[in-house]
This record gives sequence, structure tokens and C-alpha cells, in this order.
Amino acid sequence: MTDKGWDLKLDRIELEKKVQQLHQTLNQYGHAYYVLDKPDVPDSVYDSMMQELLAIEAQYPDLILPDSPTQRVGGEVLSGFGKVVHDYPMLSLSNAFNNEDLREFDRRAREAVGEQLSYICELKIDGLAISLRYKEGKFVQGSTRGDGKVGEDITSNLKTIRTIPLVLKENTTIEVRGEAYMPKKSFLALNLGRDESGEEPFANPRNAAAGSLRQLDPKIAASRNLAIFIYGVGGDGSLYGQDSHSDSLDHLRTLGFETNEERQRCATIEEVIDYVTTWTEKRSSLAYEIDGIVIKVDRYEDQEQLGYTAKSPKWAIAYKFPAEEVMTTLVDIELSVGRTGVVTPTAILEPVRVAGSTVGRASLHNEDLIKEKDIRIGDTVTIRKAGDIIPEVIGPVVEQRIGIEVPFSMPTNCPVCDSELIRIEGEVALRCVNPQCPAQMKEALIHFVSRNAMNIEGLGERVVDQLYTAGLVHDVADLYTLTEEQLLALERMGKKSVANLLNGIELSKENSLEKLLFGLGIRHVGEKAASILAEEFETLSALMDANLERLLTIHEIGEKVADSIITYFSNEDVVNVLTKLESYGLNLSYKGLRRQDTPTNGPFVGKTVVLTGKLTVLNRNDAKSEIEALGGKVSGSVSKKTDLVIAGEEAGSKLAKAEELGIEIWDEEMLINALKEKE
Ligand code: NAD
Repeated sequence: MTDKGWDLKLDRIELEKKVQQLHQTLNQYGHAYYVLDKPDVPDSVYDSMMQELLAIEAQYPDLILPDSPTQRVGGEVLSGFGKVVHDYPMLSLSNAFNNEDLREFDRRAREAVGEQLSYICELKIDGLAISLRYKEGKFVQGSTRGDGKVGEDITSNLKTIRTIPLVLKENTTIEVRGEAYMPKKSFLALNLGRDESGEEPFANPRNAAAGSLRQLDPKIAASRNLAIFIYGVGGDGSLYGQDSHSDSLDHLRTLGFETNEERQRCATIEEVIDYVTTWTEKRSSLAYEIDGIVIKVDRYEDQEQLGYTAKSPKWAIAYKFPAEEVMTTLVDIELSVGRTGVVTPTAILEPVRVAGSTVGRASLHNEDLIKEKDIRIGDTVTIRKAGDIIPEVIGPVVEQRIGIEVPFSMPTNCPVCDSELIRIEGEVALRCVNPQCPAQMKEALIHFVSRNAMNIEGLGERVVDQLYTAGLVHDVADLYTLTEEQLLALERMGKKSVANLLNGIELSKENSLEKLLFGLGIRHVGEKAASILAEEFETLSALMDANLERLLTIHEIGEKVADSIITYFSNEDVVNVLTKLESYGLNLSYKGLRRQDTPTNGPFVGKTVVLTGKLTVLNRNDAKSEIEALGGKVSGSVSKKTDLVIAGEEAGSKLAKAEELGIEIWDEEMLINALKEKE
């Protein structure tokens, strides 16, 4: 291992100091990565320090201390979650970084087991390890790996992942293990949204997935589009009658689990190396991120013979892909103003190839990050693709500075409209809060016409820019006043494209309410919230009339979103635009279907139910979801339309009103019985 660049010829005292220093640094990096889900350094830096420590420990076994990072799995368990003691430890994997490491692993395994040995290669999904317990076919508990012995109980969060079956196809009692992950597309969308709202972006999909699952509020996990691949069982598959890991994976699939189908059985290590080479090249084509290949001895009999170290099985190894980091020059820092006024600095780079494509720009997110990393214009910088997709500046190569590099500071005024930039308390982003800022208005128009919003064909960024510059459109309502004559006068607009555009605008008038709500760009109201609001209120005017209390009765709407809706509709300019939209004939109601799979019979079908007072057994949100799942509609206020009132302890005016109107009233116990009956 000395060829990897570290010097083992240090004297004893220096060596002890070195070990102590490595412990301290690795523990600090491990804490940031495992506990805070926010790594301080790239994995490659952590990995090479770990290799350095392993090399020292291999040569001087008396320096292996029980609390060495080489002897421990993962991080501490976060307080706030229940603890789950694993029936079988959840271990880490030892690493291979090149073909020689793989051949060495094979040599040792064959020496111990014999030539009949075969392997199974799997993609190493870059997420976090999860354990799922099923009792008689029903999902009962899910947890993180934690420190390998005790994990965090994150059952409610895991229930939000659609690829986790709640009921298996057989009545089995089993513990399975897998990797929860965030697909690249969801990661991209999440970080874009975080940029917009001035929140710090996640470093990679792994940390984003871990950060989503280790939240006390399951709504967060539910909104994050996570998925899971199951790659094994607690103990091993022989407990369920299988002889090999590959048979166990087939069995897991028949039970209803999603296993990764790119796996391959290999008889020799050269076949393994071919598989590794293929996926090193192909990995960017996957919809999720992988950080290597896991190679496992296939037969359980052979696995048993090889055994375990304190930290990892000896019958498996993780090949880690080399980090793709390259150097280039930061030519300039450009500023752009987004739809919500956030001013984002972008690095303009000397174009360079990284992970399969040429990169010339990378978001620098915000001023704090530039200052923290001390990035200067003219610097040589290291870049990589975070999550294999988003170009990211890791930091400057300080040694390459020649003294002409210029430190950067954000302007005090908007680069487009020159009004003063504001830093909203608690946010890192600087915002232009001038609602008339042309950059924001253009971005708002681009968002309004985009596919997931009003979907107006023929209206791309270029045309919006032309319309705005020509003074034809200032707000979204102006789009509906455009005439053929005005459009024909624009550059590069022929008769046919004008007709298409006008047709697109006309068609958009018929859109269902959620498309409009999303298109308006109300802060914190994404596509999902827009759909929920449209379905709940059915008309724009009903939504505009809703007060904070009413909005908060909706399960998926939190305080931040509700506040933002109220602020939005109390703005006079907004109301004017909406009035104009109505006068131009836009549909302002919900046209979608009611939620599918609603039952057709039962105590709540078609009923409007009001929950009031304090529930002592049930959580109010859970009660609401259960009633809705059984076909009821939960409303916040009692009126003649109310069919049933559930009155908890200390119920007040709503109960009195229900009595006055002669509405059926249940207590909590009656509700619990009704819910039980339907189980
Ligand atoms: P690991 O990631 O090297 O390997 C073990 C894990 O692989 C398992 O727990 C499981 O979650 C996962 N896995 C994915 N697909 C799998 C499959 N098909 N079969 C089995 N397991 C599969 O080990 P680790 O202990 O979880 O983490 C160590 C790694 O984490 C380091 O190598 C380093 O890259 C990273 N790390 C980085 C920092 C940092 O500061 N950047 C800090 C700590 C750890």
C-alpha cells in the first residue's frame, strides 16, 4: 500500500500523532456525512484518508484502537427517532479501487473456499441502507443502519416510498435490506427548488435521500420522490430456504420487492472486471446514481466459510468508481435573476470535459458559498458533476494562484433593474424584491407558459423575450390580448407560427385550475400543492376566500405554503391580473377527476366530515387521511352541508353549531370503531 503515496517511515511518536490526527479528521468528516447528511469533503478525500489509516494499522496492529474509524460502521443515531436494535448487524463493505484490489480479493477468497467459487455483481446504489421488517406479510417497521447495531426508526417516512410494498405476496415474516435513493431527476428538481427558495442545495442524491428520510415530518419524505432497491435479507437467504444470494434475490422479487435487474453472475474475477468496466462507462445513462459495484460471493456455504471482520463481510467487496474531478479556469461570475427575484451567481468556466460532457457553466448558488470556498475570478478551480449531473465547483486550487485573481462580492443592487437587493432573514440568497423587475417578469412569463403550467405551445423563452421587449406583454394576462397583427410584426414570426401560437393561447383557456395555480408561480406552491388546492377548493374564488385556518386544515399544506398563499392573494396587482384573466374567458375551476380508488361504500363515502376538539388517541392528521381514504371529505367549518361532526375533548363552538343544525355527532371512540371496521 506504500505506493499510494504515504510515508510509513515516520518514527513511533510521529506515527501515533498521525493516527490520532486521522481519527479526529475522519470522525469529523464521518459526523458531517452520516449525521448531518452534509459532507465537508468529496468521498475521494475521505476514502484516501481511510486507506492511509488502514495501511498504518496493517503494518502496526498495536495501533488499532477500539474506537478507530476503521472498526466502526456509520454514524450515531439521531435523537428524536425511536431506536431499533438490528437482529443481525448491518455492516459496511471493504473497498476496492482498481483491478488489482479485485484480483487480490479473489485470490484470498479462492484460497479459503476453493475453485468452485462464483460471484454475483450488483450496482452499488448511492443512497442509504435501510432495513424493513415484515410480520406475516405486513410491513411493520423500517430503520436506518445507524451504527450498524442500532438504527433509527423511520417507519412513517418509509411508508411514503411507493416501491416499498406494505403487504407482501406471501404471508412471510422476514427482514429485508436495501438501499433507499433519490432518482437523479428528483434530485435535480429538488436542488433547483432549494436554490429558488434560498435554501442550501444538497451535495448529492445520497445526502438528499438521507436528509429526507431522517426528518421527523413524513410530509418531507413524501414530497421527495424516493425509491428503494432491495438487495438482501437480514441474516441470509438460507433462513428462507435458498442456497445462494442470487436465488434469494429472485425470491425477494416474487414477494413483491423491487430488486435491481442489472445484476450478473460471474464465474471468474475477469468476468467481474468486465462487468465493472462496462458499468464504469455506462453509469451516467442510469436514472439513479451509483458509486461503484458490489461483488458478493454467491453461495451461502462459501460465504459462511469466509466469515466477517468487525466491520464488514469477508465475502463481499465494493469497487468504488474513480472520482471524476477536473481542473479549469474560472473566467467570470455572471449574475441572473430568477422568477422569485433570487440573484444567483454562475461560474463561467473555460469549457472542459467532465463525466461525459463539456461543461462551461456551473451554479455557485450564493455569495456565502463563494466566500466560504474563497473562489476568485481567474482562479484555477476543481470541478465535478454532483450526482453525476450537475456541474459543481469544488473549490480553488490555491497553489496555482499568481496574484491576479479577483475576490468576488455581490452587488448591492439588482443587475437588471438596479433596485436594492434584500437578504431575507434566515435565507442565504439575495433577492430583488421589485415586482416590476423585468428579469423577474420575464421569468414569471416563461414559467406561466411552460409545459407543466399552462402549456402554451409555440411560446418559448425567445418569443417571451421578444414580446416583453416589444412592450406587448407585461403580465400573464396580457398574453390573452395578443393579436395576429401584433405578432406578425415581430421578427422571425410567420403566418403559420402566429396561427399556432394564437391557437395555443386559446386552448390554454380551457386548462383545469391546477395548471393555472402552478403557472401563477405562488411561492412554495409547486405542481403537487397546486393540484391539492385545486381539488380541495374546486374554484379559484373559493381558494381566494380561504383564510389561514382553512388552508391549514389541508393535510399536505403547511404553514409556510399557507402563509404564502394568503400573502399572494392579498396583493392588489395579483387580484387585478386574475380579474383580467377571468374577463378573457379563462376557466378558473378544477376539471380533474376526484381521487381514484375511492371506495364506493362505507360510513364516510360522499360525506362531509368536520373534526373538532382534541383527539386523545388518534392524531388529527391521520384521522383526516383515513376518513379521506374511505371516501369522506374533511372540512374545516360546520355548515348545512356537513354530514357528520367528530367531537373530541373540549369541543366548542363547532359542536354547538352542529347540535343547533341537528347534524350527526360522534365521539372519538365511535370514529375509532368505524375505522377499525373498515380495516
Ligand atoms: P460503503 O458505502 O462503501 O458500502 C456499504 C454500503 O453500500 C451498504 O451499507 C449499502 O448501503 C450500500 N449498498 C449499495 N448497493 C448495495 C448492494 N447492491 N449490496 C449491498 N450494499 C449496497 O460503506 P459505508 O460504510 O456506508 O460508507 C463509507 C463510504 O461513505 C466511504 O467509502 C465514503 O465514500 C463515504 N463517506 C464519505 C464521507 C465524506 O465526508 N465525504 C464521510 C464518511 C463516509
